[in-house]
Amino acid sequence: MTAHQPQSQVSCNGRAYGMPTAPTVVVCLDGSEPGYIEATIAAGRAPTFARFMAEGANLEAECVIPSFTNPNNLSIITGRPPAVHGIAGNFFYDPAAGKEVMMNDPEFLRASTILKAFQDAGAKVAMVTAKDKLRGLLSHGLQYAGGRAIAFSAERADQATRRLNGIEDALGFVGRPLPEVYSAGLSEFVFAAGVRLMAVERPDLMYLSTTDYIQHKAGPGTALANDFYAMIDGYLAQLDRQGAIILATADHGMNDKHRRDGTPDVIYLKTLFDNWLGQERARVILPITDPYVVHHGALGSFATVHVPAGTDRAQLIAKLEAIDGIDLAVSREEACRRFELPPDRIGDIVVISSRHKALGTAPELHDLSGLNEPLRSHGGLTEQRVPVLCNRRLAIAPGRGLRNFDAFDLALNCLG
Ligand SMILES: [Zn+2]
Repeated sequence: MTAHQPQSQVSCNGRAYGMPTAPTVVVCLDGSEPGYIEATIAAGRAPTFARFMAEGANLEAECVIPSFTNPNNLSIITGRPPAVHGIAGNFFYDPAAGKEVMMNDPEFLRASTILKAFQDAGAKVAMVTAKDKLRGLLSHGLQYAGGRAIAFSAERADQATRRLNGIEDALGFVGRPLPEVYSAGLSEFVFAAGVRLMAVERPDLMYLSTTDYIQHKAGPGTALANDFYAMIDGYLAQLDRQGAIILATADHGMNDKHRRDGTPDVIYLKTLFDNWLGQERARVILPITDPYVVHHGALGSFATVHVPAGTDRAQLIAKLEAIDGIDLAVSREEACRRFELPPDRIGDIVVISSRHKALGTAPELHDLSGLNEPLRSHGGLTEQRVPVLCNRRLAIAPGRGLRNFDAFDLALNCLG
């Protein structure tokens, strides 16, 4: 460090962050479509959110496209778009290897996390995520010796070790049993852990990331959603009383993707491409989930399609654009320019469906038996608006368009 660069500045991926003046918590409320929190406030069950909105900051930001969980969590934790960090979905197709490759492993991460940068600068950091699939990416590079970092998932809290997570007996520490993976309890565990960490360890910087199990099931204002946000409200009240600066945003929104009769409203892309190009000539990638997992039927609003070399893409794009329910069909190059995506992890064509339509491969390839409620999902432009709330006032330059991956910048650099 030089005299011109005070040690209170931490640099990460080309952005600079101030050292926190109070313990700072960035929260990613998975799937928090605008309206959930407002509806819970209207029901009289979210006094803390109401106070944050009135006395702190109540803003909106755009998330990254695809409006999926992993790309956005990695953008928030690195402060940069997927073109920089490399995580453009849950998996991608590698044409050279001829196989679909999961992107859960940190080897696919091309940027450092803000938490690591702060630990390197001497700060104590903590991270708790609901699903274990995100833990390795979000905690990449952290050093657990000396008790200066703690990072674990609610899903595998029973397996946390001091060497790999900076904590052992996480269940005993949090004082709760291991939650079910598909439950509101998984997210509650994240908040309970955050409150305990703030009380016992008081990290300088902490990231809490929930799961959108409830938002996939229930829309804003429903009893299920209000119960969930009322639960969150109670934990935010505790963090607030503990003196933390709290900045909450979301990875993406959430919309109904079903017909009036409750059946999923899906455009089946593989069926279309098989008709246009011949059987199995194109490969449709739906990177909302694992290629072999049927969670939510693997139906979202974003797809990328690999087509044989020499295929007339412009003609295919024109055909896609003519279909009712397609918001956008563009080339890889155009998609990567517009959405700041890594070209080597995107297909030849990017397709985005409209607010109430989902994209699938072929009807026979989706197991919808696990869908117990009418489909709600995300991935498109219509799930790009997310809330940004803070328990402190924020000073933001007029006209600045906010992204959800400005979360750490807002919490560390923009307090009013
Ligand atoms: Zn999500």
